[in-house]
Formats: sequence, C-alpha cells, structure tokens
Amino acid sequence: MRARRIAVLGAGPAAIAAAIGLRRAGEDVMLIGEPRRFAAVEGVSARVLEALRRAGFSRALACFAAPSRRCATWNGTLTQANWESLVERERFDRAALEDARAAGVRVVVGRALDVRTTAAGHQIHVEGEGGAECEADFLIEARGRAAPGLGMPRMRGAETVSLLQYWQGPRGAVHSAVESCADGWMWMAALADGRRYLQLTLDVAGAALPPKAELGAFCRARFAASAAAAPFVRDAQPVGEPCARTSTPVLHGELAGENWLRVGDAAAAVDPLSGNGIFLSLSSALQAPAVVGTLLHDPARAALAQRFHRERVAHLFYRFARIGRDFYAQEQRWLHSPFWQARRGWPDDLPAEGDAAGGGARIERRPVVAHGRVVEDEVVVTAAQPLGIWHLDGIGLAPLLRAVQGAAPAAAEAALRAELGGEGARAARIAAWMREQGWI
Ligand code: FAD
Repeated sequence: MRARRIAVLGAGPAAIAAAIGLRRAGEDVMLIGEPRRFAAVEGVSARVLEALRRAGFSRALACFAAPSRRCATWNGTLTQANWESLVERERFDRAALEDARAAGVRVVVGRALDVRTTAAGHQIHVEGEGGAECEADFLIEARGRAAPGLGMPRMRGAETVSLLQYWQGPRGAVHSAVESCADGWMWMAALADGRRYLQLTLDVAGAALPPKAELGAFCRARFAASAAAAPFVRDAQPVGEPCARTSTPVLHGELAGENWLRVGDAAAAVDPLSGNGIFLSLSSALQAPAVVGTLLHDPARAALAQRFHRERVAHLFYRFARIGRDFYAQEQRWLHSPFWQARRGWPDDLPAEGDAAGGGARIERRPVVAHGRVVEDEVVVTAAQPLGIWHLDGIGLAPLLRAVQGAAPAAAEAALRAELGGEGARAARIAAWMREQGWI
C-alpha cells in the first residue's frame, strides 16, 4: 500500500511533537512551518520538561534555564511555592525544528498559504525559500492562534491581550514573578544574560490603551509603578517596541475531520495565567499519531478516533479554564473591576478537578489507545475521571470493578484475587486503592 503523506502546518511545540510522533509511528510526514516572528520568554513545570524529553525534544530541552522560584503576589499576599523553568521561545522553537529533522521529518521552512481541502486530499501553497505547491493526503493544523478558524469556536473567554516589553540590565540570577493589579496581572522574568521580559495582561474591552506610538511609555510606567516588578526594572532599561499577544482562551468548535486534525493552540488555547499552554499543546499533539493512524488505516473507527480527540482536548481545556477561574477568584481586592468580574466565574461553577466525592463508579465503553490505534473498550468512569480509567497497575480496571461489585464487602479482596488468577499481592494493592475510592 502506498504510504499516505501527512502535512503538519506550524513550527511550534504542537507541530513538532505531532510530526516526530507520526514519524516514529512510521508515517510519511512533512512539516511546513514558519519560525515564530516575535521574541517571548515562557515558563514551564517539571512535568512539561519530562513530556518534551519523551517526545524527542532533546536539543530544545537544552535551551531551558535551570528551574527557578517564582514569587507570586496575589490578593496582597506573597508566596514562593512554585518553581518554573524559563525558556526563550525563539531559541527553543529553532532547536525543536532541528529535533524534528533529526527524527527524520521532512521540514519545509515557509509560510503555508491557500490551503485547499477536498475529500481527496490537500493542496498547500507555501511562500518561502523557493515557494512550493505541496500535496498531502492528511493535514494537521498546528499554526497556533494564527490558524484560520473553522466555523464558530465552541467556547471563548473574555477578550484578553498581553503586552510584552523587553528590558536589558546587567547579568544576574534567573527568576520570575507574578503580581495581580486592579486591571489585570503582570508576569516578569529575568534571564542570566541580563535580559528582562515583562508581560502585562489586560482585558481588551476594559483596558484604556494608548495609541501604538505611546505603548512603550505606557508599559514602562506600569512596570515602574509595581513593587513586584522593581527587581526586574530597577537596574534596567526598556529595549525596542512592546509587542501585543492575544491571550483569550478559545476552544475550537471543530477539531477533527476524516482527513484533518487540529492540535495545539489551533485546537484549544488557554489563558496564560494557567501556565499550562505548552502542556495542553503537547497533550493534543502527542495523541495525534494514534488518532491519525486510526483515521488513515482503520477508517471503520474514524468516528471513534475523532470522538477520542475531541473529548480529550475539551476535557483539558475546561480543566485549565476552571483552575484559572479559581486562581482569579482568590483575588478579592477588585471585585468590581471588569477584568476580575469577567474571569472569576468563567467558564462555569463546576469543580476544576471533577467532584471527587460525587457519585460512584460505573462501567462504560469509551475510546482508548491500544497498540497505536484508537479502539473501544470498557473503562471505569467516575466524577473525578469523566473520560474513564482503562488500566490500573497494568490491568483492565472494568472487570475488576465488576468482580467487587458482585461480591459482599468482606469478600471483595477474595473476588479480586480470583479475577487476577490468584495474584494475592496485586489483589491487595488494588483492593487498598478501591477502598480509598470508596468502591469497597
Ligand atoms: P505556537 O507555539 O503558537 O506555534 C505556531 C507556529 O506556527 C509558529 O511557529 C508560527 O510561526 C507558525 N505559523 C503560523 N502561521 C503559519 C503559516 N501560515 N505557515 C507556517 N507556519 C505558521 N505557555 C506555557 O506553557 N508557559 C508560559 O509561560 C506561557 N506564556 C504565555 C504568554 C502569553 C502572553 C501567551 C499568549 C501564551 C503563553 N503560553 C505559555 C502559551 C504557549 O505560548 C502556547 O500554548 C504554545 O506555544 C502553543 O504551541 P503551538 O505549537 O500550538 O503554537
């Protein structure tokens, strides 16, 4: 059978993770991407570094500074509980493209324009080195927030903008800080070479922004007036013009078709306050090989694969939106400010981590990934795990739950042991876990 060609559009973490994953799965992958156009510094947690390592970003990982403490001044209280690893995104993205090449991905550097899609495939006009017309059987849209929208978004938060200003000072320690203010919040980062990156996030409708020519002075005055920003600006000067990034949370309405898929920010982009943008992008990109593999090679399960992708992207989007909401709600000083009012109740009032105490456990058939394809199997669904738990301790959980549900509480562990073919130690471990869940 002729290998089907997959084109991945974009050059950020989502495009690169999807392309490397598909290449590892033996697919014919071409990445068409234009390196990002503006400088930015971002921070990630240890679990993102681990996900990047497993996804094959070895050169890109070398661009992160060692983890540093983040000072948070929120609701007037200073905490230093969190650590983050800072990275210059331009450097990171360039190194990640090298990781993709090293993994065997064909990389076309250029701007993808005029993507024409039919049931038979895609034609992409690329503007860049030499220009080109590329054809593909399958398309992965990973152009971030710049990706053209398809229909109406399913969910969109309050319109938000982040103003970025670079400052330069003497060499020093790497550190970062976040601070809430009456009309938004600020995030500041200092790199070892003395560059400082200051970001002010505001409500688009509520912010009284000056004309573009005065934006530099506006940002400078705002940072100069902030106590938390003082260590970042005291010995430094602004460099260049500020840049504005839209940071409105958006979940797209259509995430997958028979021969296309959206991943990364092109599928769902969260509020930068959550600090989970790269994590969410990677999550949707890392499931792409199984979803695309199923759509291409097992079309009878196409609807199941699309459902798997949609449910997982939406689940994480809402989870991070609710975590952000709870963090916004902790700020009590400006209850009537439009910025805080619009965010403290969005997207809903459901608990961020699911209602751990609510309801029992039930068995449902749902999409799962087995041997690189999306298939359907029984999983255990709870309020805290609405997508279901498939395996526990390397074994299917649904038959185990059925075994204990059919036994008297005193005989539950014996029923588990019987289901596990006499494996006493494993039965005891799983019984202890089920007791914690309240299932026994
Ligand atoms: P992107 O990283 O946006 O990549 C899209 C790529 O597509 C770019 O390389 C772009 O040049 C390319 N492209 C665009 N159009 C075309 C085209 N026509 N043809 C070819 N290529 C094209 N996340 C964190 O984890 N930590 C943070 O601290 C953090 N801070 C943030 C601060 C702000 C203000 C914002 C807005 C976001 C922040 N994020 C943060 C989120 C993070 O930047 C994104 O979630 C992440 O970069 C998304 O990855 P992606 O690959 O989907 O998209």
